[in-house]
Amino acid sequence: MSVRSNKEPATVPPEIQARLESAGLRRTLATRAVLGLFLANPQGTVSHAQALASLQTRGLDINRVTLYRLLDRLAACGVLQRHADDGARTWRYSLADTGEGLAPRFECDACHRQFRLTEASAPTQAVASDLLRTLAGLGHQGMRVDVAIHGTCASCVPGAGATTEQEPRP
Ligand SMILES: [Zn+2]
Repeated sequence: MSVRSNKEPATVPPEIQARLESAGLRRTLATRAVLGLFLANPQGTVSHAQALASLQTRGLDINRVTLYRLLDRLAACGVLQRHADDGARTWRYSLADTGEGLAPRFECDACHRQFRLTEASAPTQAVASDLLRTLAGLGHQGMRVDVAIHGTCASCVPGAGATTEQEPRP
């Protein structure tokens, strides 16, 4: 909540930097501030309105349209992932997977927290390769596979303990 100087925003990991460069996105103050927002909370998903509010709280002067375009461009170049928020008829954004295999995401529809199921990386990667091969056979070019599971997380399940199948998280 403190207003920090904008001289040294969050460091941008090299994979993200590479994606920005290959998409020709310049690292403007706004880009770095938006990335900083996601890097500070890698598991979070943020709507356009929430991102706008956070950035303005941090003292960044950015208008709605600029932010919309920026979020879309970051999603287009694979830095962010865009998810439809069915209830609110809006988009939510989160950091996209960078390396470390393809892990499916689980998103809690109640609290919008995301969990990356790294335990399932290997089978997911296998399914993804299969899907991409199928696409290629049809002449399509698949670029990226995003596996998402929606539901209710352990802390949001009413009367947590009622579910017997789920393993407790460490
Ligand atoms: Zn939850």
